[in-house]
Amino acid sequence: MELALDLPNDLQIVSVLLPIPALRPYSYSVPEDMQLAPGDFVQVPLGPRKVAAVVWDDADEEESTKPVDPKKLRAVELKFDCPRLSRQMRSFVDWLSDYTVSPPGMVLRSVLRAPGALDPEPPLQGLRYLGGEPERLTDARRRVLELVWENHQGEEFMSWTRSGLAHAAGTSSSVVDGMTKLGLFEIIQIPAPAVVASPQADFAAPKLSQQQRQAADLLVTSIEQNQYSCLLLDGVTGSGKTEVYFEAVAAALEQGRQVMILLPEIALTTTFLERFEQRFGAPPAQWHSGMAPKMREKVWRQVATGQVRVIAGARSALFLPFKELGLIVVDEEHDSAYKQEDRVFYNARDMAVVRASIGKFPCILSSATPSIESRVNADSGRYQHIKMPDRHGDAVLPDLSTVDMRAHPPPRGKFLSPVLLEAMKNSLERQEQALLFLNRRGYAPLTLCRVCGFRFECKNCSAWLVEHRFRNQLQCHHCGHSEPTPEACSNCGTLDHLVACGPGVERLAEEVDELFPEARIIVLSSDMAGGVSRLRLELEAIAKGEIDIVVGTQLVAKGHNFPQMTCVGVVDADLGLANGDPRAAERTFQLLSQVTGRAGRDGGHSVGLLQSYNPEHPVIAAIVGGDREGFYEREIAMRRQSSLPPFARLVALIISGPDKRDVEAHARALKRAAPQSSDVYLLGPAEAPMALVRGRHRYRLLVHAPRQFDVQTYIRGWMQTGPKERGQIRVQIDVDPQSFL
Ligand code: ADP
Ligand code: ZN
Repeated sequence: MELALDLPNDLQIVSVLLPIPALRPYSYSVPEDMQLAPGDFVQVPLGPRKVAAVVWDDADEEESTKPVDPKKLRAVELKFDCPRLSRQMRSFVDWLSDYTVSPPGMVLRSVLRAPGALDPEPPLQGLRYLGGEPERLTDARRRVLELVWENHQGEEFMSWTRSGLAHAAGTSSSVVDGMTKLGLFEIIQIPAPAVVASPQADFAAPKLSQQQRQAADLLVTSIEQNQYSCLLLDGVTGSGKTEVYFEAVAAALEQGRQVMILLPEIALTTTFLERFEQRFGAPPAQWHSGMAPKMREKVWRQVATGQVRVIAGARSALFLPFKELGLIVVDEEHDSAYKQEDRVFYNARDMAVVRASIGKFPCILSSATPSIESRVNADSGRYQHIKMPDRHGDAVLPDLSTVDMRAHPPPRGKFLSPVLLEAMKNSLERQEQALLFLNRRGYAPLTLCRVCGFRFECKNCSAWLVEHRFRNQLQCHHCGHSEPTPEACSNCGTLDHLVACGPGVERLAEEVDELFPEARIIVLSSDMAGGVSRLRLELEAIAKGEIDIVVGTQLVAKGHNFPQMTCVGVVDADLGLANGDPRAAERTFQLLSQVTGRAGRDGGHSVGLLQSYNPEHPVIAAIVGGDREGFYEREIAMRRQSSLPPFARLVALIISGPDKRDVEAHARALKRAAPQSSDVYLLGPAEAPMALVRGRHRYRLLVHAPRQFDVQTYIRGWMQTGPKERGQIRVQIDVDPQSFL
């Protein structure tokens, strides 16, 4: 039986992009009674499954390799009642897929993260007042009626939800139900309410300083020009960058455009949300992975319909289908949390710039310590450079100095030098706060046996197990594997001879507790029990002055405002400089500048002390000497000289699998298959520094090419001709890698 005989001659065929790792869209036939255009969200069959997908633009002639056989085509099953995915977004998906050398469907997956949002939000049942009063007017009934009478739009009484009305009148739903039965209300359908109220551009505009005014004017001008531009807002911590870019947000809102603000740690930014609300009278809607699915669906839908005007989100907000996006702000643009290293490897900061350029609107990158990439782009004029060198008001930067640990060593087995302890004591005596920063979670980074020297290592990863004494566990920070802290060495069996090597925040807190028994101490680390909600409470407690000493990992470095913090101690300033990563200097400079920037934001004297065994190191010297420009100059010159990004292109290939010899063989075969090019240097394959992760062995290849070289085309050609992924072997492609582990 030929199916084709039943098909009408004018069979419509559409390209549909599915959220799967295919290299191009698939063809489907369109049922006679369905009208489809590119961007429509549809449901299509895929094998036995039904998947949500998007009608895509027709491929170029050359790409559609063979004509489709209509007999094999399956039909689109339904079209969702949902705004189309704009041409802008489709171009963005295609662009990102091209640049990262990932299948477009894998990028589309990020757009389709809230499947329930494709159906319209069900309307709510509401109550409309029909007039009149009940014969028996109890107190509760009177309160309900008065509330209804007071709230009207023009001539019309406002409609209420049953529970909303009861709640507002301070009574129970049964009272409202009773009144409905009496015929005072009729039940109607009301549209689903917005997840947040609309922010108002002029709600509480601040009085800006002259430096801030100038910066804000430049931003606002770019909004008014209504075209693509990228602006680097480069101002020291406390200069008021947030205040200033809020002016751009206000300008975009006034123009009827939506706004996206990207933040590196959205789950922790209560203070940001509060500031936004104080400025605009309503909080922004949020978008991050910690949201409940129902909320995600609402926000997605309302961004698409234009009901939500401002999103504050993590990097995945880039894929939200805004109706009329007119500004993206990337706060803390240098932050490495913007790099996604899972399936599709991309840097959300860079992709924000791309999205703005496709959408023809401005993008603002804000940071106290911009990335080298952004500084170079600003120097070359690709980005507009807006500088704010001074702190706002009477807030001054802390006095920074190093503590030479060779001259002022701590007692044996301890980690805090007498110099730092003295400074902490001074702050505490003035009822102020101190912060100790150490970027190491847990109690100790390494546990070893004093008898045989055995080191406790993760069985799935090349990493030491980290002792977490609060939980009495040894834990791997790469795969999460944990085991109870043993009493005997698992190698030689000797009891009670295990020692903790080096400090983690928990161990430091123990040391502080012994030295300052009266002080209220808190440990802030991303792995503490209680998660985000507890952390938020703790940050609030610190801000309110309910804590004396904070011991924290890099979690505390990010954007929090602690007005009473007048002493910041960096326990191990050398820590980040030790590894061989080409970005080690930049990262250390950024992290330590941010940490010490936590001090003294409320005027008055404050200190920052960096404990180091190598205080002459240029990065540490630049931070302490306040020589920001000097640091950038040297680092940029070094990158240029060594032909490192952004003066060259890097792509990392990570080959992994369960069998080490297979992985190595595949990596070597891949290298042999690399297309010849005099422009390209191939480094490796070499065993990755993290040679084993989650039971998978890893090898790395690094592609180095000149800035102007089209690495994507090169890699695509290579992957087409070279050996394919087989069995459990995977090849991940990381364009512009940030991590070299
Ligand atoms: P940055 O983001 O550059 O570190 P913020 O925008 O967080 O700086 O500002 C630092 C502090 O100064 C905040 O508490 C902020 O409310 C305050 N501030 C900055 N500018 C003003 C202003 N024009 N008026 C009042 N307060 C301001
Ligand atoms: Zn592990």
